[in-house]
Amino acid sequence: MAAAPRSVVILGSTGSIGTQALALIARNRARFTVTALAAGGGNLPLLIEQAKSFGVAIVGVAKGDRKVLQDALPGVEIIISENAAEEIAAIPADVTLNAMSGSIGLKPTLAALKIGNNVALANKESLVAGGPLVVAAAKHGQLIAVDSEHSALAQAMRSGAQSEISRVILTASGGPFRAREDLSNVSVDEALNHPTWNMGPVVTINSATLVNKGLEIIEAHFLFDIPYSIIDAVIHPQSIVHSMVEFNDGSVIAQASPPDMTLPISLALNWPDRLAGAITPLQWGASHTWEFAPVDTLRFPAIDLARRCGVVGGGAPAAFNAANEEAVAAFITKKISFTDIVEIVDDVLSQIGGEVSAHLRDVHDVSAVEENARAVARDLVARRGRR
Ligand code: MG
Repeated sequence: MAAAPRSVVILGSTGSIGTQALALIARNRARFTVTALAAGGGNLPLLIEQAKSFGVAIVGVAKGDRKVLQDALPGVEIIISENAAEEIAAIPADVTLNAMSGSIGLKPTLAALKIGNNVALANKESLVAGGPLVVAAAKHGQLIAVDSEHSALAQAMRSGAQSEISRVILTASGGPFRAREDLSNVSVDEALNHPTWNMGPVVTINSATLVNKGLEIIEAHFLFDIPYSIIDAVIHPQSIVHSMVEFNDGSVIAQASPPDMTLPISLALNWPDRLAGAITPLQWGASHTWEFAPVDTLRFPAIDLARRCGVVGGGAPAAFNAANEEAVAAFITKKISFTDIVEIVDDVLSQIGGEVSAHLRDVHDVSAVEENARAVARDLVARRGRR
């Protein structure tokens, strides 16, 4: 007998992960139903199309024209509010996919955990900004990795006990500038063009600076309760091996598949079971070369910086992420250069690192740390603009 369909709520439905999740669900309608969708509101035509296609009961947007939504979606409950994603996250479902971008995803993650839903977490910033809060709110097994590296780790960890893990190795494509000598003159268009992965704009820039890998080290720490001292990153330009776990007998278990987020999304939505036919696997009739190389931490200081923030703990990772979000926005609007991004993040942490290391009690503490970091980052951006 086929299992009953799983009810899914998607936060960030019109973004890169959200649209890929819905495309997967469209091919597996007997397995999944979509109960509710939340989106920023920047693409109402797509949201309307999604809500119609999946017969969704509730739609939430941060901003948008109520009449447009009501006319297009008769009988559908419409929420228009700054807190729409949080309200949609509190709807009971088998699994809530948080595919939002940025640390605004933290409160919705906490809301979905609180109501008891499993959370398929594509919003790594929830863990970076509010890791201690998310971990405290999550019951064992309630948080499921969507990030390809962390999905790979979760799969590899099925090979041994937690106490047998001696190292986890996150792979990084190295982004488009792995082999480029001079990074000071990188243009916005060049940074938005990733060689192997098709992703949203912020994570694409973060991949180019390797900030993304730094965020993922922090994400891995909280997701799997692994100490920072045994989390490494290695450059793997082909993006086929998505991460590895080394066990204490010297065995390394790697997860390999084409660079397609459909696979980790399918596993997260169907967790702990695999979804048959999710993607076309690697083709072994062709030759493959898989390269691995150490990260050049001088040219890409973001990884060490992120790890240091993780070790400091408290609000330091939240400050790292918030400063980076500000710096990336300034780079995209051409106020600063590519190499300024991580320099600004580093400078922000030098200025306020001591202030933000305190224990995070609640989301207000996270917000205070973030506002502080953003203000300092904006000030540094303005000073660079005047150079
Ligand atoms: Mg990733």
